[in-house]
Amino acid sequence: MKLVIHRYLPCTTVEGPGRRFCLWVQGCSIRCEGCGVPWTWSKQNGKTVTVEELFREIEKSRKENDIEGVTFLGGEPFDQAEALGKLAAMVKKVGLTVMTFSGYLYEELKNRTKACDLLAYTDLLIDGPFEKEKLDLSRPWVGSFNQRFHFLTSAYKYLENELVGMGNKIEIRISKNGLVSVNGMATQETLNELFDVSEFKKIKRI
Ligand code: SF4
Repeated sequence: MKLVIHRYLPCTTVEGPGRRFCLWVQGCSIRCEGCGVPWTWSKQNGKTVTVEELFREIEKSRKENDIEGVTFLGGEPFDQAEALGKLAAMVKKVGLTVMTFSGYLYEELKNRTKACDLLAYTDLLIDGPFEKEKLDLSRPWVGSFNQRFHFLTSAYKYLENELVGMGNKIEIRISKNGLVSVNGMATQETLNELFDVSEFKKIKRI
């Protein structure tokens, strides 16, 4: 089974609780106005990989980075729910947690047969589209206050009353060729403060 992906990070601390492998899938059928990652909308721009290949990378990171889980975001993970459901099952089997983002609502996803496995293996689901007029970064990992946290297992239930005020963080990576990449959640204003605006074209927001 194959997935079309944008990219992955073997280990990040700003895309969910603890140290996580993070997978950005390629392709999003929702296309929210003000989306921070519009380059993940078209499936044409993605890279096709097998579920087994990705699982090998996750296993490598589990051994090298002591990750506690995997985060699926995008793009829209539920546009590729079957393959991600298979990957999520493999991830859970080795004792890692699964956190999944979706622009669709949980109520809608529950009625989709193809979404069953991915939902069943997800510990923490964050649902709802980004709505730019509801911009709110007071909770971690999300950009607007309509987005909801669903604790589908007890794994992250302890976070339920701690979300407001936790805020967001970003990570900045500089590659050998000087390309600066950013992941995590921040406003454009924050990024402008961090970087010289004249140099901003060199920054790849992920
Ligand atoms: S669901 Fe996510 S990736 Fe898709 S348009 Fe909305 S914010 Fe962007």
